[in-house]
Amino acid sequence: MKKETKVFQAETKELLNLMVHSIYTHKEIFLRELISNASDAIDKLKFKALTDTHILDSSKELSISILPDTNSRTLTIKDTGIGMTFDEVVENIGTIAKSGSKAFLNSLEEAKKNGDLNIIGQFGVGFYSAFMVADKIILETKSPYSDKGVRWISAGEGSYDIEEIDKAEIGTSIILHIKDNDEDKEFLNEHKFRALIKKYSDYVKYPILFKEERLNSTKPIWKTPKNELKDEDYNEFYKSNFHDWQDPLLHFNFNIQGSLEYNAILFVPATPPYDLYTREYKRGLQLYTKNVFIMDKCEELIPQYFNFIKGLVDTDDLSLNISREILQKTQQLKNISKNLEKKIISEFEKLMSNDRDKYIKFWETFGKHIKFGIHENFGLNKEKLQNLLMF
Ligand code: ADP
Ligand code: MG
Repeated sequence: MKKETKVFQAETKELLNLMVHSIYTHKEIFLRELISNASDAIDKLKFKALTDTHILDSSKELSISILPDTNSRTLTIKDTGIGMTFDEVVENIGTIAKSGSKAFLNSLEEAKKNGDLNIIGQFGVGFYSAFMVADKIILETKSPYSDKGVRWISAGEGSYDIEEIDKAEIGTSIILHIKDNDEDKEFLNEHKFRALIKKYSDYVKYPILFKEERLNSTKPIWKTPKNELKDEDYNEFYKSNFHDWQDPLLHFNFNIQGSLEYNAILFVPATPPYDLYTREYKRGLQLYTKNVFIMDKCEELIPQYFNFIKGLVDTDDLSLNISREILQKTQQLKNISKNLEKKIISEFEKLMSNDRDKYIKFWETFGKHIKFGIHENFGLNKEKLQNLLMF
């Protein structure tokens, strides 16, 4: 079986170095990062399974488990998600072409120039953040597209070992060897991780299990009565689901009843997503039906000029086993999209008259999208959008 030692690329090393000698003030966010990766991985498995039905064993519950072991001083985060092949581990874990980390490094450059290293504390840097609390990480994973599993081991220094292993179950385990100091050892403490999961990952949509008990909320955030939700709930939900480390500028919660029925929770980021103005950027909202995740980035749900808006839509009226091609043609989706567009515009109009300062902030960040919306399609949307203009 294959076995190799590889060195990290230079920018990965720089990031790791920061993590290992953590100048970070919010170490605890490592747990949120690993849990959102686990949740993303389950989403991917479910999405693939729409077309590749054999990869999903329907008798098995899709879940994330927390397995602390004070004797070996390890904390394991295990998921039943898509896993990774050997090459995918090298690609995804060995390099930092990935969103969170890349954005972090870009801002780090800025911060260094301005001599403002405080901003580092505001970031979630994905997988590598686990090196703030662990002096060794073992990742074991298996993809449904490979008959071998993979083990990746690193102490976060210059290199990592990677080898093929026998592994039966599809999914990933991240085994953290927690650093030997009182502060970090706290993360093995049940009270501590329970509290952190409540704080950061309560609305993760798959069960987060500890000894078979579910630690996170069983109700999805969009089925929770609005009066039970605080700003922090929206903010944490946003940060763990939409690859951002900052609180959003705004959130909208729509509960639409009647001939058209859907729930939507939408967010306007505080700053443009780091890749918004690149060709790789894909707009879209997450799509759920009957609380079950269907797909990420469903672009039919949101017009191009609102491409910076993140969020999700849940509707009961779609079939669960729906292919992408059929989705695009579904009238239901078009109706939701039209209705959503109207709702969003009306929320922005309300904001403009009720909280002008916030609206100005929004306008400074995303005003050009509104202008773009007015000009595109030969001015088709002009009427709709003109009330949002500021000069
Ligand atoms: P991001 O989540 O922003 O892409 P991360 O550093 O958190 O960045 O993760 C890097 C990549 O590693 C992910 O995009 C994913 O491809 C892969 N990965 C991380 N954790 C898992 C996991 N539990 N299961 C499958 N793939 C994972
Ligand atoms: Mg991540």
